[in-house]
Amino acid sequence: MPEPSPTLPPFPPDALGITSTIPLEVPLAAGRRVIDLNNLFVRSGDPAWFVRLAEAEGFPRTCCSWIRGLYGLLRTAGIRGGIFVTGGDCSNTHAMMETLLPGLAEVHTFSFPCPPSREALRQEIDRFCAALGTTPAAAEGMGRTLAPLRRSLAELDRLTWEEDRVTGAENHQWLVSSSDFGGDPARFAADLDRFLDEVRARPPRHDQLRIGLLGVPPIMTDLHEFLESLGARVVYNEIPRQFAMPDNTSDLVDRYLGYTYPYGVWPRVADIRRAALPRRIDGFVHYTQAFCHRQIHDIVFRRELAAPILTVEGETPGPCDPRTRLRLESFIEILKENRG
Ligand code: SF4
Repeated sequence: MPEPSPTLPPFPPDALGITSTIPLEVPLAAGRRVIDLNNLFVRSGDPAWFVRLAEAEGFPRTCCSWIRGLYGLLRTAGIRGGIFVTGGDCSNTHAMMETLLPGLAEVHTFSFPCPPSREALRQEIDRFCAALGTTPAAAEGMGRTLAPLRRSLAELDRLTWEEDRVTGAENHQWLVSSSDFGGDPARFAADLDRFLDEVRARPPRHDQLRIGLLGVPPIMTDLHEFLESLGARVVYNEIPRQFAMPDNTSDLVDRYLGYTYPYGVWPRVADIRRAALPRRIDGFVHYTQAFCHRQIHDIVFRRELAAPILTVEGETPGPCDPRTRLRLESFIEILKENRG
């Protein structure tokens, strides 16, 4: 790699990187800092650099850019330890973890049970607690500490769709950051409270259309803004909202059983149906990642959801490409005509 790597904030030596949402309460109860590597990767000055590094080291081009980018980050950012989701996320993560194993000083795994089962999840959380040197009771205590923060995220979401005071990009940014609470839950909570005070004082927005954005977080950096420039605001960011778990502040097992992402498409369909009605969604944009197995879920969404759907695909980090812009423009035009 001839070009220099992008500058990143120093990775705290005691922190653990995560590649997907895990029961965060457990490492936090163990006194560990947790940093979501997806957010670090996509917000770095040049995320494509990490993707190119993975390719240079032998990753196939047909492996999704999130995986290649995370690998590049883990190889270069001074990260000493990680927690990898080995069940319910992505088999590519598992293989990527294996390529890194000799180089990481500390590796933990978490596996969501398939099919979802209360008992199996309880056992996995107990195992995870023991691996990190904490107890389920301490993790439950951390869950109670974080409950006000999850309620604030629910309020942010409500202010987005019910009072129309938050943009789709802002909603996305806060919810997607809740997978690790920005690496510092206390600071995240204070920043979020300040943001909520600010948006409550804003006048409501009057967008022509209301969009539900389905799928994994887009690797495109301006999808929400581009939709808004067309008069269509995202009022439902499906998977980022799942990361925040705003509906479920009860016990640890219930919280992570209610989290739809690891359990296949059907819990997601039920969640999307529940969310679509009160939000008065005019249409869905289904974001899919190139080379991701989850693209296949598009078939089920098209069969099961009532509102019109446009499926878009992203591959590399950066702004929406011209073809995607054109397709979004045409879709929004059709939705506007439907509304009359
Ligand atoms: S986008 Fe799909 S293939 Fe890529 S890491 Fe996520 S689940 Fe895996």
